[in-house]
Amino acid sequence: MEDEEGRRHAILGGSTAHIWTACTGSVALCRDIPKEAPSESALQGTEGHSIAEIVVEDFLEHKISGSDPGIRSHLTAKSPEMLEAAHSYRDAIWINILEQSITGKAYGLEELVTLDKNLEMYGYVDFWTVFKDDHAKKVLAQVDYKYGYYPVEIKKNPQVAFYLVSMRKELQRSGIDIDYARGAIFQPRKPRGDVYTEVRYTAKQLDAWEKKFFTAAEKIFITKKTSLKVGEHCKFCPAKNGVCPAYAKHIANKSSLALIDPKKALKTLPSPETLPDETIRNIILIKNELISWVKGISSYGVSRNKAGSPIPGLKLVEGATRRKWPSEDSHERIGEKLKETGLEDPYKPPQKILKPISQIETELKKLGVKDGKKFLDPYVTRTNPTLTLVSEEDSRPKVKNALDILQESSDDSYPDSDIEL
Ligand code: SF4
Repeated sequence: MEDEEGRRHAILGGSTAHIWTACTGSVALCRDIPKEAPSESALQGTEGHSIAEIVVEDFLEHKISGSDPGIRSHLTAKSPEMLEAAHSYRDAIWINILEQSITGKAYGLEELVTLDKNLEMYGYVDFWTVFKDDHAKKVLAQVDYKYGYYPVEIKKNPQVAFYLVSMRKELQRSGIDIDYARGAIFQPRKPRGDVYTEVRYTAKQLDAWEKKFFTAAEKIFITKKTSLKVGEHCKFCPAKNGVCPAYAKHIANKSSLALIDPKKALKTLPSPETLPDETIRNIILIKNELISWVKGISSYGVSRNKAGSPIPGLKLVEGATRRKWPSEDSHERIGEKLKETGLEDPYKPPQKILKPISQIETELKKLGVKDGKKFLDPYVTRTNPTLTLVSEEDSRPKVKNALDILQESSDDSYPDSDIEL
C-alpha cells in the first residue's frame, strides 16, 4: 500500500508503532480495511512536509556550499503559513540539534530507514544527523516534523524510538555504533506547550526499545499470539470504526449502551428522562468518542460498498446537494445582473465576491421578488451529492459500486447471443 507521495507503507512502520506495539492484534484487523482517500488534513501534512524538506535541504546546502538558500522558493511560496512553519522547523534543527554548525556532521532528510526488511519494519525519517559531540561521544539525532494540531507527546513515544532504533541499525550494518541518541518532535501548530520537544536515550535504552519492537513483531508474524488491547492508541487505529470487537465492547461498557449484541442493539433511542443518571453521565463523558465511532462506522460502510463488498441490507445512494455560486470569476457578471433588480450591493467587501445565496434571497424578497429561489436558479450551481448508506428498502436508486460496474462490463463483453456452447 502506498501513500499520496508514492511511499510504500510498512506493515510494522514507525508512524503506526504506537498502535502495533500496544495492540498486536491490530495488524490482522487493519489489513483488509479498504484504504480511504486521504483527508484534507493528511493532504495538508504531506504538502507541509514537502515544503519543510525543501527549506531545510536548501538551507543546509547553502551552509555547506554557499548556494542560494531560496533557489526553490517558487515551490515553497504557495502557502505562506506552511512556509513560515518550515522556517521555524529549519531554525529548530539548526539551533537545537546542529548547534549552528554543519561541519563534520552527516545528515539526511525524508529517508527510508529499515529495522528489519523481512518483517516489514521500516519508516521515513524527516531529518537525521550523526556527529561527535564536545566530549567526542557519537550522537545520533532525529527530528520528526508534525504538521497537525493534535499534540504529540515526546516521552516514551514509540514512533520517535522506532526511527532512532532503525537509524542506529542502519549505522550498525555499516560497522558504526553510537553512544547516545536524541529524538525530537517539532510541531509548529501545536495548540499548547512547547513546539519543540526532545528526549535522549542511551544505547542501552535503545536496546530495550529494539527488544520491545521485535517482541511485538514476533507475536504478530511468528507465534501469531496476538491480542487486542484498548487504549489511547485506538484513536488512530482504523479498526476502531466498526471492525474491532474489543473497541466496540469498550464503547458499550463505557456508555452503558448495548451496541455490539445485534439482539440487544438499540432499535429506537430512549428519551433522556427514561435513562438512569449513570447512563446519562457515561454517555456524556464519552460523547466525542461515540460520535467519532458512529462516523467511522459510516465511512467504513461506504468504503466497503465502493470497493464492491457491501454490508448486506444497506445500499449507497446520493444524498442531498447544496446550492452554491459558480466560480469567483463569474461573480461580477452575476452581481451586475442582480443589480438590475434594484439590489444595491450584492457583494461582500472588500472584493466583488457575492454574498451568501440565502442572504441575497432575503434581500430580493425585501425588493418584492416573491420566489427568490426560482429567480436565482439560472445563476446558481450545485455541490456534488454526498454518498450515504441507507436501507435496501429505500426508494432512491443505488449508486453502482466497483462490483456492479465490473459485472455490467462483463455482461456487455459477452452478450448471450455471442456465446458459443
Ligand atoms: S481499535 Fe484499539 S483494540 Fe481495536 S485493533 Fe485498533 S488498537 Fe487494537
